[in-house]
Amino acid sequence: MSTNIQIEEHKTDVLILGSGGAGLFGALHAKAANPDLEVTVAVKGLLGKCGCTRMVQGGYNVAIAPGDSTERHFMDTVDGGKWINRQDLAWTLVEQAQVRIRELENELGCFFDRNPDGTVHQKAFAGQTFDRTVHKGDLTGIEIINRLAEQVWARDIKRMEDHRAVALIPAKDGSKLAGVLMIDMRTGTFRMVRASAVLLATGGGPTMYKYHTPSGDKTCDGMAMALRLGLTLRDMEMVQFHPTGLIAGEDTRITGTIIEEGLRGAGGYLLDGNLERFMHKYDDRGERATRDIVSRGMFAEMRNGTTATHGGLYITMKHLDPVMVRKSFKGMVERCADCGFDLVGGNVEVVPTAHYMMGGVVFEPDCTTEMPQLYAAGEDTGGVHGANRLGGNGVANSTVFGGIAGDTIARDTKPGAALAEPDQTAIDEAVALCCQPLSRPAAQIDQVRTKLWDHMWEDAGIIRDADSLARAKGTLDELDAELDTVGVAGDTLAYNLTWHDWLNLKNLILVSKSVVAAATAREDSRGAHFRADFPDVRDLENSTFTVVRLKNGEITLGTEPVDFSRVKPGESLIDDSAA
Ligand SMILES: Cc1cc2nc3c(=O)[nH]c(=O)nc-3n(C[C@H](O)[C@H](O)[C@H](O)COP(=O)(O)OP(=O)(O)OC[C@H]3O[C@@H](n4cnc5c(N)ncnc54)[C@H](O)[C@@H]3O)c2cc1C
Repeated sequence: MSTNIQIEEHKTDVLILGSGGAGLFGALHAKAANPDLEVTVAVKGLLGKCGCTRMVQGGYNVAIAPGDSTERHFMDTVDGGKWINRQDLAWTLVEQAQVRIRELENELGCFFDRNPDGTVHQKAFAGQTFDRTVHKGDLTGIEIINRLAEQVWARDIKRMEDHRAVALIPAKDGSKLAGVLMIDMRTGTFRMVRASAVLLATGGGPTMYKYHTPSGDKTCDGMAMALRLGLTLRDMEMVQFHPTGLIAGEDTRITGTIIEEGLRGAGGYLLDGNLERFMHKYDDRGERATRDIVSRGMFAEMRNGTTATHGGLYITMKHLDPVMVRKSFKGMVERCADCGFDLVGGNVEVVPTAHYMMGGVVFEPDCTTEMPQLYAAGEDTGGVHGANRLGGNGVANSTVFGGIAGDTIARDTKPGAALAEPDQTAIDEAVALCCQPLSRPAAQIDQVRTKLWDHMWEDAGIIRDADSLARAKGTLDELDAELDTVGVAGDTLAYNLTWHDWLNLKNLILVSKSVVAAATAREDSRGAHFRADFPDVRDLENSTFTVVRLKNGEITLGTEPVDFSRVKPGESLIDDSAA
């Protein structure tokens, strides 16, 4: 089939995949460091309108207040990550966040909330020993992404919107990356974009779970492409669940989206189907325990079966001052009202929801990867957060490393340099993979998606054990085979959303396999990863992290020792550490 397909060719010096915090910072920094470079941003949606950076509510962690320090932010990050973070990456995050937040305000035009004395207001977030979360109300992401997009639009940076990356294509001799095969979603045309440097910044996104928070355009495409290229991913078992995703019914994308953590912080109660509190059975802090503990408590209650109308649980604020609730949580009150719930005086049905992947592509502090000419940043990468990401460290991660990636790319790339010849076999194989459903009679693919969601949720989600993970592995193999028999109507490829859904599922199933393989290998419980059959953290001093690769179509697994390059378990970089 692939031999008849027309592939258009496009050339640029620098190709950025994704227009979240990582992608846009990468583009701006590369262009600023060398204005002669031709920089192109290619994105699955519209620039400035897609991805999760835009959805950031709570804010951005940075140690800029008197009394806070780089060391304290670092210790919180490593302690939260249960000591499997790559420490040089975590250090780079906390140190460079201080540079990036000033750049966001002073150069890019963001304006964050202020204290009465004019200093930047920083709020409390879970798992931190200092109030360091900078924010713009509860719409921080919109402020960041709008200002970034304006700056990109104002510069000579090329855009390929509604362009989906489908394969990272190596050079003929395999020595480096030659470019990326893309589909122009507006027409269905394949386009081989050759480049001297490619930044992978497609933002991960655990949308393989029944309940999830990320934007619908995120389907682990970057991680799947990296696996197919033979790259190493780490910490893939570490999937973070946020305790309070809204349940608004079966047929709405609102289900799964977050209602914010501050509700529990302000004294909100979680109730079971009999309207009784239950969190004190699981932790003395009750509803104020950390995300992983609350999610596990909720999941256990749901398994016990005392649930609300749609199988979830309730959050209620009705015992609190209604004026305070209305004033402090205006956005959440309105969102709940839109879905028919009364957050101030009633009970709102909620469920833990898959939020963030701590794992991803192995990369260096300068954002280089194993493959020359391929760079990576943001939620596609692994190692910064270890076993758990602190709320507020996600957008810091994507903006810090996106900027570094742009600097490194400018350092390594000459404008107009000769481009490597792409490996035609790799292009043909990628086109064949993409086109395979088009040669079969059209059928429904919804049932594959529903089964994937249900089985990942039940067997490889918040609580796992050897049996459930073995079941998940079997199911994923079956679903992969089933997807390979399902056809998609290919009479028109322009905005053929079913075709893109098929491609999304192909990627989600592959990346789910790596989650299950890594979760099976890690026989302890840390951060976001909880094994009912191995409930203890075990042996922090000899911590290891998991690595996965794709070989001959199978996920292979390894473990590597953590390098405690700055601080060892039991030690601290601060005198009065809570670590
Ligand atoms: C509801 C919500 C609230 C959050 N709140 C916070 C918070 O308060 N604080 C915090 O620190 N973090 C928060 N996060 C996490 C934070 O949003 C992410 O950590 C961060 O924004 C990721 O940035 P990124 O650039 O890596 O990816 P994204 O911003 O998600 O961007 C990824 C980009 O890649 C594009 N893309 C995907 N696949 C392809 C493909 N195949 N080809 C081309 N382009 C592709 C997407 O369209 C998108 O443009 C929140 C996340 C969600 C979902």
